[in-house]
Amino acid sequence: GSDVEVGPDVEINEAVAEDDLLGGLEIDSTEEIEVPERLVDQVIGQDEAREIIIKAAKQRRHVMMIGSPGTGKSMLAKAMSQLLPQEDLQDVLVYPNPGDDNEPKVRTVPAGKGNQIVDAHKEEANKRNRMRSILMWVAIAAILAYTILAGASLLLGLLAAGIIWFIFRNLSQGSDAMVPNLLVNNGDQRTAPFEDATGAHAGALLGDVRHDPFQSGGMGTPSHERVEPGSIHQSNKGVLFLDEINTLDIQTQQKLMTAIQEGEFSITGQSERSSGAMVQTEPVPCDFIMVAAGNLDAMENMHPALRNRIKGYGYEVYMDDTIEDTPEMRRKYARFIAQEVERDGRLPHFTDDAVEEIILEAKRRSGRKNHLTLLFRSLGGLVRVAGDIARAEDREFTTRDDVLRAKDRSRSIEQQLADDYIERRKDYELQVNDGGVEGRVNGLAVMGEDSGIMLPVMAEIAPAQGGGQVIATGQLKEMAEESVQNVSAIIKKFSDVDLSEKDIHIQFVQTGEGGVDGDSASITVATAVISALENIPVDQSVAMTGSLSVRGDVLPIGGVTHKIEAAAKAGCTKVIIPEANEQDVMIEDEYEEMVEIIPCSNISEVLDVALMGEPKKDSLVDRLKSITGTAFEQNAVG
Ligand code: ADP
Repeated sequence: GSDVEVGPDVEINEAVAEDDLLGGLEIDSTEEIEVPERLVDQVIGQDEAREIIIKAAKQRRHVMMIGSPGTGKSMLAKAMSQLLPQEDLQDVLVYPNPGDDNEPKVRTVPAGKGNQIVDAHKEEANKRNRMRSILMWVAIAAILAYTILAGASLLLGLLAAGIIWFIFRNLSQGSDAMVPNLLVNNGDQRTAPFEDATGAHAGALLGDVRHDPFQSGGMGTPSHERVEPGSIHQSNKGVLFLDEINTLDIQTQQKLMTAIQEGEFSITGQSERSSGAMVQTEPVPCDFIMVAAGNLDAMENMHPALRNRIKGYGYEVYMDDTIEDTPEMRRKYARFIAQEVERDGRLPHFTDDAVEEIILEAKRRSGRKNHLTLLFRSLGGLVRVAGDIARAEDREFTTRDDVLRAKDRSRSIEQQLADDYIERRKDYELQVNDGGVEGRVNGLAVMGEDSGIMLPVMAEIAPAQGGGQVIATGQLKEMAEESVQNVSAIIKKFSDVDLSEKDIHIQFVQTGEGGVDGDSASITVATAVISALENIPVDQSVAMTGSLSVRGDVLPIGGVTHKIEAAAKAGCTKVIIPEANEQDVMIEDEYEEMVEIIPCSNISEVLDVALMGEPKKDSLVDRLKSITGTAFEQNAVG
């Protein structure tokens, strides 16, 4: 069997493809996979963006790509340049202007001609200089001979010879100065140019004229030689890629817009005080296709007229962050590894089980049921770190073990912080992971994007002085108030206690690191409050995450995998998660044996697992069950 995704030489076992991590690929290593030649065929996922790029290349339209970093925006822009016709390419030459040295002339010729013209000029100048120097030496010799033969003053003769030498030298310098400056050279270009101008300053983007300190004396470098092209000129007939477009200042965006409208743009010195600022060339062609990119926020700072320009004359496309996990897609992910290995050129190819581990990681990082992450830059980072480990040990292939080691090494800053934090807490014994404590619950939160952290919550109930209130501190105050509100609706129904006569103190133990999301802690707060209210201890070997509705339902939350791993690292043995998140769990093997995952859909189930000390607890849970109305299907703890 052959396959378009991985080349004709690879067998695919369709019978097992559905459940196989490799999508049925029968390979020993990625060496057997054939990487497509065209970059556009190497792009995985992003079907819409791919189609638009292909269409826009045909129609020569601008494109705006909006999406997360590392999803293939610049890759697609480059791919687009490969799709553009190569026969249109041009060279650009800058000539001196005898009429006005401050306005050098600009000429455009077909690609490859530029070098020939410069060579011809140089040849011409050389010839002229050779002729001149012959003439000069003849003249000097004649003068010296005459001086000696006629017995004239030797000093006068030498002086005359010196003057001749000086005049000729200046003449030959002048003829060098007539050689044009090859501003844009597409002579060796096999595809239309691709210029990445991300983060470029005005001069690099729009062209510049260098300062010449000797300019005023007439001894300096002629102005046409000091002209430098910008990315807009170098991408003439090709693609100009601009990521983080909003970081360009408004003035530069305005000039960029003019360049797009006119298709040509004069080059002038960008720093106002320099001699270059006096120079302005004739217009230089800049007929590029712009691919602008950024995230959603970036669009806000973009010059509205520039954005409209792209919208009106081009396409806008959103990049996906994840893609549905199918056998075909998994095979493409195997090809992705082959692509990265070949692009790097030094990494050993990956064995089949190493590929499986990367695909597992892609599933895990998607954070979504039946999906794979499309954040390829960071996945590629993992591939390179794993490959580097194998290469450092001179092995023929990169193995699963290398991938596991790489994962450990390429932890994000947040993950390292979180791990460090857990370690430090262990030192201070802030962490409690066994026994029972009233009003204390091990909550879980996400830090940054990809790391979980255990976040204990303590609740204390005191008679109110005045009207009862919720007293919480820090950034999680609002969330605490809301969860107490939700839980108080439930408490009202089963308890005699009137919460409005109580002060409820809620404390998040050491959230000092900041950047912690609290949305998902509401079942934690509710459990802590009920435990404190009813004086029933909470099992400290349990950690939990989940959002709570007014009816007592446990609602899904984000980052469930990272949270479970954080709980395991902190030494907890049970983790309560929302039932709706059960499919999102993709924890690594090493944690699987450490924790039991208990999906819950209702607060009564949560309390049944988390509270200790029957019979008080049983009676509470029974009462709760009757009012929240969810039948207990399985008791996960038993
Ligand atoms: P962006 O411009 O969106 O930040 P890049 O195009 O620079 O991302 O992606 C960085 C690298 O990640 C690419 O050079 C390529 O190796 C890999 N990559 C990114 N997206 C894809 C994709 N959709 N398919 C295959 N490889 C990809």
